[in-house]
Amino acid sequence: AKRMGKNNYQFYEKRSMEQINDRLELEKDLRKALEREEFILFYQPKLDIFTGKIVGVEALIRWQHPQKGMISPAQFIPLAEETGMIIPIGEWVLRKACLDAKAFREAGFPPLVVSVNLSLQQFFQPNFSQMVGQVLTETEMPPELLELEITESMMIDTHHALMIVRELRKFGVRISLDDFGTGYSSLHYLKQFPIDKLKIDQSFIRDCLVNSNNATIVKTIIAMAHQLQLEINAEGVETKEQLLFLQQNDCHEVQGYLFSKPLPIEEIQANFDDIVKA
Ligand code: C2E
Ligand code: CA
Ligand code: CA
Ligand code: CA
Repeated sequence: AKRMGKNNYQFYEKRSMEQINDRLELEKDLRKALEREEFILFYQPKLDIFTGKIVGVEALIRWQHPQKGMISPAQFIPLAEETGMIIPIGEWVLRKACLDAKAFREAGFPPLVVSVNLSLQQFFQPNFSQMVGQVLTETEMPPELLELEITESMMIDTHHALMIVRELRKFGVRISLDDFGTGYSSLHYLKQFPIDKLKIDQSFIRDCLVNSNNATIVKTIIAMAHQLQLEINAEGVETKEQLLFLQQNDCHEVQGYLFSKPLPIEEIQANFDDIVKA
């Protein structure tokens, strides 16, 4: 390795320069993406596990980049967080989700709960809850139909986070805890936070039938949610066997590729009856 050291060094240096340039370029594009209307929301149906009926949808953002094509949130949300762009983007997501929900109701579909993901920066921005209140009013969104998905990472700043969650709940919106089980101190926070729902992280669902530890974890989380009188959602459900396992263990709500991937709102409308039958 030593003999090749020099070349390696140049190689890596070149590559990292490329990476820095890619990032800078993406950052530049990200700053323009909002005004150029390059973001779109997809919606993944959430189903009642026993009736099989669609009870809600989760809004998931995509970036339609003019050259690079569809960019997933995993690729640009972290960048948006680091650059502060998440504040206007997050507000756009909330407003758009509420407006889509309104159009959906006005088209004669039954009222569905719409969930929106929040990011850390956005959640702790000054006047965040006021912004939510304003969007609710502006879009005539029934607050009980809006679910905000928070993560354990926000709960670390417990005092501050509790204050915000309480302000949000005063509006009457629902709060769910996303990616449950992946944080490091879940149980400690669970006791303290007034939330409505736990979403079991999809990593546990993925292997729940092949890995007995994961099966135990899923069963335990569901049982605990029942004890705490919290609703429980399992995401990333891909097989009938996983669904059966979750039904046997009294999970309430499911979402995953088994039923539907995230879709544009028009496709949810067009396929609504099929989704209900899934
Ligand atoms: P998440 O909130 O945990 O969302 C679930 C992710 O799992 C979504 O990926 C969804 O498309 C995917 N998924 C759903 N069902 C299945 C399944 O059966 N199998 C598998 N393998 N995957 C499934 P997506 O849309 O790429 O979003 C990734 C993450 O990006 C989200 O994870 C969320 O943390 C973040 N994100 C998405 N939209 C927003 C947004 O509007 N705001 C913020 N702050 N974050 C967002
Ligand atoms: Ca989520
Ligand atoms: Ca999740
Ligand atoms: Ca997540």
